[in-house]
Amino acid sequence: MSSPDGAILAAGFDPVAVRGDFPILARDIDGAPLVYLDSAATSQKPRAVIDAEVAFLAGANAAVHRGAHTLAAEATELFEDARETVAAFVGARPEQLVWTSGATAGLNLVAYALGNASIGRGGPAARRFSLAPGDEIVVTESEHHANLIPWQELAARTGALLRHIPVLDDGRLDLGVAASVIGERTRVVAFPHVSNVLGIVNPVADLVSLARAAGALTVLDACQSAPHLPLDLPTLGVDLAVFSGHKMLGPYGIGALYGRSDVLEALPPFLTGGSMITTVTLDRAEYLPPPQRFEAGTQPVSQAIALAAAVRYLGGLDMAAVHAHETALEQRMLRGLRQIPGIRLLGDADGVERVALWAFDVAGVHAHDVGQFLDARGVAVRVGHHCAQPLHRRFGITASVRASAALYNTEDEIDVFLDALSGVRPFFG
Ligand code: PLP
Repeated sequence: MSSPDGAILAAGFDPVAVRGDFPILARDIDGAPLVYLDSAATSQKPRAVIDAEVAFLAGANAAVHRGAHTLAAEATELFEDARETVAAFVGARPEQLVWTSGATAGLNLVAYALGNASIGRGGPAARRFSLAPGDEIVVTESEHHANLIPWQELAARTGALLRHIPVLDDGRLDLGVAASVIGERTRVVAFPHVSNVLGIVNPVADLVSLARAAGALTVLDACQSAPHLPLDLPTLGVDLAVFSGHKMLGPYGIGALYGRSDVLEALPPFLTGGSMITTVTLDRAEYLPPPQRFEAGTQPVSQAIALAAAVRYLGGLDMAAVHAHETALEQRMLRGLRQIPGIRLLGDADGVERVALWAFDVAGVHAHDVGQFLDARGVAVRVGHHCAQPLHRRFGITASVRASAALYNTEDEIDVFLDALSGVRPFFG
């Protein structure tokens, strides 16, 4: 490796060795080696994750929590062990971790559960979560649509008002405005730990303290932080948080909702049906405590087990060294992007903590053309609005290019990307 990375290699993290664990990274794209810079959309999967899912399906598959046979007991044990592993990864206890099919499903679960509380479901315990006309839900201007539309829907159902914290020109949240937007009418404050477009780590402590002072519930979208930063959700102090397996080396169809115990215990369910009840008559049902209360129907069992393998894989690495490596990639990207004429970076704030992603606009060239030009050279980036239309509108554009790195990227790959990108404007004239 050609750069200040020597220190990182010495500190115990070797991205080249790690690459050997990811079969797909050996691929080429029409003869050019694949340079995968789209990990913010979905990460690649190490062999350990692929093997864990196959091993379960091939050797221990059975319906969990039901059968009296050996396979069912083994499957249940693996499934609940997976919960314990993934919960521990975010500093939580197993009963604080609800399986979902992804972050979108987790956020909808919360918004619909709050809607149910608002129509009296969940009894007196849930009353503190109910929303009524005049109440307010606060989000940020930087939201992924997954952490925006469920709140729009909840506002429409309850008559609450949806408000937002604006983004400053440099991509940071406007905390001055946040302090005036979050007030005594606020019932929910939902925000991303890291925006999937700006890459900036948001000031969780400040937002939690504003929300707490207002007596509002905090909901954290941790999709873009869970794969990259040490995450201790109880210490962050949020009430609820979601993250997504497929972005953190895990499989598709699995994610999790974390909740403070007192919050989960008081929330009514969203989906109902099998596996979440104690007693059912033709008229009514009694529900299990969390997490099962929120896990109606057959769960993504093999995916949960494979996500635990992903978490064990990450846990087996020196995460501080991984973070240092990713920061080196981000800084190299930044230095190179700043040197290419016509590039406008989104979220180029000084002195903030970041993950290794940069979204940008290329003057005079549509993001889709940039993406195709790079793809022809083996470089995979994301183009479009990245499910964040309001944020793009705020910056006066409809689409951007986003390059996002992960632990398995190398500085040489960043150079391939930058070289290819510097050819874009000369090519399109
Ligand atoms: N929130 C953020 C910040 C994201 O980047 C994404 C994925 O693109 C989501 C939510 C949605 O996650 P999922 O694919 O698990 O539904």
